[in-house]
Amino acid sequence: MIENSMFEEEPDVVDLAKESPSYHIDSDDVTYEPRSSRLLVRGLGENDMDEDEEDYESSARLLGMSFMNRSSSQRSAASSYTRQQPSNSCSPLSTKTTAVGVLILVLVVSMFMVIYFVPSCTFTKKGCQKSNSSMSSIYPISTSGELFPWTDLRLPVSVHPVHYNISLHPDLNSMTFQGNVSIVVLVVHETKNIVLHSSDMNIIKVTFDDKEYRFLEYKPWQQIAIKFPEDLKKGQYVLKFSYKANLSNSYDGFYNSSYVDTAGTKRVLAATQFEPLAARKAFPCFDEPAFKSTFVVKMTREAKYISLSNMPKIKTTDLNENGLQEDEFESSVKMSTYLVAFIVAEFSSHSKNVSKTTVSVYAVPDKKDQVHYALETACKLLKFYNTFFEIEYPLSKLDLVAIPDFLAGAMENWGLITFRETTLLVGNQSSRFDKQLVTSVIAHELAHQWFGNLVTMRWWNDLWLNEGFATYMQYMSIENVFPDLDIDIEFLNVRFKALAKDALNSSHPVSTFVSTPEQVEEMFDSVSYEKGASILLMLNATLRDGEFHKGVIEYLQNYNLSNTESKDLWNSLSQVSKQSLNVSEMMNTWTVHKGFPLVTVKRNGPQVTLSQEHFLLNAENGTDDSSLWHIPLTYVNDSCSVLRSCKQVFHLKDKEATLQLPGQVKWLKFNFRSDGFYIVHYDEQGWSDLISALKVDVNVLPSEDKAALINNIFALSRLGKVSFRQVLNLMDYIRNETETAPLTEALSQLGQIYRLLDKRSDLNLASSMTTYIESHFGSLMESQSWEVETSVSKMTLRSALLETACALNRPNCTTQARRLFDQWLASNKTLQIPSDLMRTVFKVAAKTDEGWSKLLGSYKHSIYDTEKRKMLEALASTQDVRKIIWVLQKSLDGSEIQNQEFPLVIHTVCRDFAGYLYAWDFMKENWEKITQKFPIGSFAIQSIITSTTSQFSTKTHLAEVQNFFSSLGAKGSQMRIVQEAIETIKHNMRWMEKNLNTLQSWL
Ligand SMILES: [Zn+2]
Repeated sequence: MIENSMFEEEPDVVDLAKESPSYHIDSDDVTYEPRSSRLLVRGLGENDMDEDEEDYESSARLLGMSFMNRSSSQRSAASSYTRQQPSNSCSPLSTKTTAVGVLILVLVVSMFMVIYFVPSCTFTKKGCQKSNSSMSSIYPISTSGELFPWTDLRLPVSVHPVHYNISLHPDLNSMTFQGNVSIVVLVVHETKNIVLHSSDMNIIKVTFDDKEYRFLEYKPWQQIAIKFPEDLKKGQYVLKFSYKANLSNSYDGFYNSSYVDTAGTKRVLAATQFEPLAARKAFPCFDEPAFKSTFVVKMTREAKYISLSNMPKIKTTDLNENGLQEDEFESSVKMSTYLVAFIVAEFSSHSKNVSKTTVSVYAVPDKKDQVHYALETACKLLKFYNTFFEIEYPLSKLDLVAIPDFLAGAMENWGLITFRETTLLVGNQSSRFDKQLVTSVIAHELAHQWFGNLVTMRWWNDLWLNEGFATYMQYMSIENVFPDLDIDIEFLNVRFKALAKDALNSSHPVSTFVSTPEQVEEMFDSVSYEKGASILLMLNATLRDGEFHKGVIEYLQNYNLSNTESKDLWNSLSQVSKQSLNVSEMMNTWTVHKGFPLVTVKRNGPQVTLSQEHFLLNAENGTDDSSLWHIPLTYVNDSCSVLRSCKQVFHLKDKEATLQLPGQVKWLKFNFRSDGFYIVHYDEQGWSDLISALKVDVNVLPSEDKAALINNIFALSRLGKVSFRQVLNLMDYIRNETETAPLTEALSQLGQIYRLLDKRSDLNLASSMTTYIESHFGSLMESQSWEVETSVSKMTLRSALLETACALNRPNCTTQARRLFDQWLASNKTLQIPSDLMRTVFKVAAKTDEGWSKLLGSYKHSIYDTEKRKMLEALASTQDVRKIIWVLQKSLDGSEIQNQEFPLVIHTVCRDFAGYLYAWDFMKENWEKITQKFPIGSFAIQSIITSTTSQFSTKTHLAEVQNFFSSLGAKGSQMRIVQEAIETIKHNMRWMEKNLNTLQSWL
């Protein structure tokens, strides 16, 4: 899977969209603990709500809104994932009352826990009963009131599924479906129970070897069980279910989706999204990745629709019932349930053959002309992967389908990859800039056909084996197959983003214990994807040429069609490594610890002292100081610094080590091309030698190294290791810089600070920052062309510079943008706006009532999704509160703006001063509705929370955020992202306290 928000954020200044800035805080304020022991939000009740009230009220008054209304709607704390929790009916009227409430809650829960976990006690409706002497577990109570015979979120391993026959009949008028599933199961250990997953369905009949049985259901864990009077002997049996269910209204399970075609007719379709835990919503199944099986799917549909599934269709049968037809698909390869997929819709397609595989791209008929780029790209990438992995893609067909309403970016279902329209469809007028996104997503999902589908992680704790690998392969394959897409700049940004997230105490190890559904959802985050990809790059750069490639092939061959853990990958790579390097020993230090190391370099002539410590933004009271990484440190010096052959390596495994240089050097730069996942700090002389070298010759280092110096020095200033003066000293060189990576990184870093100043209404400082940015980037802004450009690198730079320039109201920029918008309108939208400038142009246009209305009209009628999203971002960037409210409401109810766009809308609204407080209030008041659409813990929810909270930097807002999330009880308070949000706000506060004076004197 690829999450949409992972690629929709682009660095720029005022509209800066990077993840939450990370500033310094006290570690005792935020501690990340295992969920089982975490109690809501820490520090509750410490904050005096009266402080900063005035500041808060004035912003509320300014916006004419009810920000002071802290009563949120009452929320039930009855979690679907926890066994029993008292219902929470208190509104968070004030911190004190909430604190008292929480105290009472703690007492009640504690008493409950004492009773609940008394040894030899079975907790039932009747209270504490003496258990059977052999029964030491605590059995939950099933829906019928009987004891449910299983006590774990993970299924027992005594029964394995072997094969599923699934027959489905979705009714797209009533939005319901009927299903019959028969599962061939293998009893491997004698047992009296079969336990499997099922959710949100009405099971009518269960048979086991043709005999009807009752079943028990324990809804909180989405499990059902069939109890047998005698032990089932080892062997094969057939388990059958008949059931009915509604097509889901959210974005998972077997869900309904709709769109309005160009003729104005509403069209409906049904599609699936099962990863991670929603196959159980479409058919009863053993819904864990290690229970691999084969699947036969049969789909009944009306003649006007087509149906698709993972495998090629074998036949279609007329059922003679109201013109219904049944499609039957070939038996699948052995695979996990989360990869099963089916679609019933009216789609058109184009196809092409690669080796033995027919590749097809499907879209709604109105957009059938937009599939050609995806088809060509998928074919090229399939060829590349077939050769690279030395295992041919095993199916005879590969479908790529653009679904009109789809939450994730794309999903790698084996043989039937589903996409958002934006991530698959490309109009004729699209530039390489837009194609880069489509290419990336296709490359990611195709890589999954091997990493994930062929070889699958055993459990979700190792999700990174799927996602980190697919992310790494996506960049690696594009560098090989599409070098003109300049994907290296994007990958560098991704690594910086991963560092920023992983510097927080609320981060987690790459491989992390998970059990509850929310914990599984939360694994789809920057650590699994971006840090996972970053450490693979570091490993590849450390191994000798070709070794990584060989190890990957070895791994795929060894574990073909089975499941793995991290150690299996490291062992495969160790086997092929000719060096004395112990890959497992080295890489374990990167997957077991959270965070990453800060390497400090002190040089005395040819003697260099190196030391490592955990780069933790709250390091003063760090909790993880003993962590040591095996760091494959790389470095270059003044005599050879640009070519890859200049790179030297030193393995730092201990806390401190000494490196002896063969001769004198003027300067050293560590972490060559930023291939390693660590931050480097130099002594004062080391920094000034590097800065001087850059001021003399801007080309003395590769662009990745310059960007990394900028990234690292800002991070170090947050950690308090370097002064802001030193940061600005480095930034002085930027006036001579022309390369994209360092320039966009500098803009992005300055933008984070600008946004915080802006949101605090610190007008003087915000204006000084504007002047600073203009003095350093102004001449580059003026020299950008507004004509069509072909280099992706130039487009990336130009769009960042001009979007900033227009946001700062530089007259030349806004005039050019208006000119392009007027020409575009006058030509009835036939005259193109360069696609990298479209967002800038639309945002300037949206500043006037007339421009905004015209954009809205265009938004409604455009069939080009890439263009539409840029229009939507412009619509949501308005300063007019009434329009902000309209956009938020329409995207949440899904009426005029697709519901899938809500995270993007709220993200965009939050960028500007006018909208960010309103967006926070809107999220609170609509939390119930939002979480019905987007699951707790999901990437969408993570993105919504980060967008609404990451720019707060006052005590009042901190208390607001703490109060709100603690009031949610099990409906959200325990998410890791909430810890991250609180940590980030505290960083912002601390950073502001420390640096406001410096900023005043130095800007
Ligand atoms: Zn993925």
